[in-house]
Amino acid sequence: MTRMLIIGPPGSGKGTQAERISERLGVVAISTGDIFRANVKGETPLGLEAKKYMDNGDFVPDSVTNKMVRDRLGETDVENGFLLDGYPRTTAQVDYLDEILADGDEKLDVVLQLTADDEELVHRLLGRAKETGRSDDNEAVIRHRLDLYHQQTEAVVAKYAERGILTRVDGIGPIDEVTNRVMQAIKAAQAA
Ligand code: AMP
Repeated sequence: MTRMLIIGPPGSGKGTQAERISERLGVVAISTGDIFRANVKGETPLGLEAKKYMDNGDFVPDSVTNKMVRDRLGETDVENGFLLDGYPRTTAQVDYLDEILADGDEKLDVVLQLTADDEELVHRLLGRAKETGRSDDNEAVIRHRLDLYHQQTEAVVAKYAERGILTRVDGIGPIDEVTNRVMQAIKAAQAA
């Protein structure tokens, strides 16, 4: 049973690594970005609301995001653990997640941060934009998403570091090599 978070700037490969961790640990990976994108595609009311923010690289408001996460974490497939990817991104979301977990008498085991420098990330994201045509992958929006990460999400990382459950992994390098580092870091954190 593992309950964990993966945090990283846009382009750090957290979605890819999240899928691999999920397979290896047998826990369900939940990506708030993926849930939003599925809703945008399906043109649901949630998707129509989220799209306004996502296209500009802004955070979807907490009033929408928090409830979505609470509902998702209430489903039965998370009983054996979960890996949250892309949430929490603000300290207010950390507080909200604390409440959800406390309500279920649960706690986080590991928070994994993937690191990479900004210029490498911009380069990767511009490459991804060509491949996937994601509407939030153009340079101005990419830089804005990185700024938000530095302004807001680094404070989230600091909170978990204070709690002693943060482990950092260098996200630069071949995907398999990063996965090896990630799995080793999780093992070490769980043994600590
Ligand atoms: P991601 O795929 O994790 O990069 O997320 C894509 C977009 O979804 C972000 O740029 C935000 O617009 C939105 N999003 C995902 N997770 C959150 C969150 N925890 N809080 C607010 N907005 C989010």
